[in-house]
Amino acid sequence: MTHLLHRSIQSDLPVAARGEGVFIYDRDGKVYLDASGGAAVSSLGHGHPDVLKALHAQLDTIAYAHTGFFTTEVAEKLADRLIEDAPEGLDKVYLVSGGSEAMEAALKMARQYFVETGQPGRRHVIARRQSYHGNTLGALAAGGNALRRTQFSPLLIETHHIAPCYAYRHQHEGESLENYGARAAGELEDKILELGEDQVMAFVAEPVVGATSGAVPPAPGYFRKIREICDRYGVLLILDEVMCGMGRTGTLHACEQEGISPDLLVIAKGLGGGYQPIGAVLLSGRIFEAFEQGSGFFQHGHTYMGHPMAAAAGLAVQDIIRRDNLLANVMAMGAHLTDCLAQRFGQDPRVGDIRGRGLFQAIELVENKETKAPFDPAFKIHARIKREAMQRGLMVYPMGGTIDGREGDHVLIAPPFIATKTDIETIVDRLGAAVDAATQSIGR
Ligand code: PLP
Repeated sequence: MTHLLHRSIQSDLPVAARGEGVFIYDRDGKVYLDASGGAAVSSLGHGHPDVLKALHAQLDTIAYAHTGFFTTEVAEKLADRLIEDAPEGLDKVYLVSGGSEAMEAALKMARQYFVETGQPGRRHVIARRQSYHGNTLGALAAGGNALRRTQFSPLLIETHHIAPCYAYRHQHEGESLENYGARAAGELEDKILELGEDQVMAFVAEPVVGATSGAVPPAPGYFRKIREICDRYGVLLILDEVMCGMGRTGTLHACEQEGISPDLLVIAKGLGGGYQPIGAVLLSGRIFEAFEQGSGFFQHGHTYMGHPMAAAAGLAVQDIIRRDNLLANVMAMGAHLTDCLAQRFGQDPRVGDIRGRGLFQAIELVENKETKAPFDPAFKIHARIKREAMQRGLMVYPMGGTIDGREGDHVLIAPPFIATKTDIETIVDRLGAAVDAATQSIGR
């Protein structure tokens, strides 16, 4: 019995021994097709020789230098590179070790910005129900996922939640998608007015919602309206692209497809593709100037921020994505995935919705397609699908999201950007078999 504390305490997980391309091999030689990139992390797949070369080269120069004493070429190069490709207005990069750390930093940046600019009354954060922004207390407070929050709620800072933009569940009959998007965004304005125009510091949202609801894209115009509302009331817009960013939806940043720029952009996962732990906050010049002209520093920091090995991984992964034109493959394979999912599940009475963008797609399972009623949460269909998929050598990311206060099931598919047509077809074949076996096990 190992002394390692696993996520699920009682663990009978296979031991991952080796990774190559889209495949992971366990210690017994079983092969798994990684169709979820772990949790949308492995953007380049496993064991990419050029990333390994870059990491070895960095290790041969310097593996660690504390950011209180030194900067490093590799961290500066990565920051320059991220700003070169950043949405308009973003000018500086703060490098940390993962998504939760990056979200914590973004929330503190927003607060410090208002303190430095003489608006200390601005303290409220608004986010959306069913969202997840990380597991540290600040990031967890921003998240609106009841399952994750409940037991920790006495420890969380007060935050406020509006409805997510979730057309499959919330669009009214006869309402256009555009009108639905405007109505959903309007909730932000109502909440700001309720809390007080000069009391809100930030609105936090994922452009395409990942783990909590399963690749839910926004309605057209939703984020443009959100941006307008934030500007009208001087609220900072924090976009969480930890999961949906860095190429996963077919553009480097998911917000590009919405035609907007945030004040703070939070990225992680695909940035380093899993080769090293890394996350980042990209912040606007306006926020940086407030720090520069105010106290002269951002009151924050972690021992491993700007880690040279992590920066080397991020730089190598991003270089290869650009060099090999992999965003074009995300678009092409994403379109193929959409077709294959429609063919396999389009008429399936257990699949209520198929959605997503690029190589970030999902199916949502329902007990009744007409009423959209989810399966009884006691069945834990998502967990059954995961088990059945692993038995068939497939990694997908099934989750029990909360749908309007009760649990529901969806399966997220997020393979590496190097996936081929054959990989996509194998993923959908095996997923179909896993869904069949999971629902048969409860007599459906
Ligand atoms: N934000 C989103 C949207 C995420 O999906 C996650 C992780 O799944 C996080 C933040 C937290 O990132 P990490 O697990 O790297 O701390």
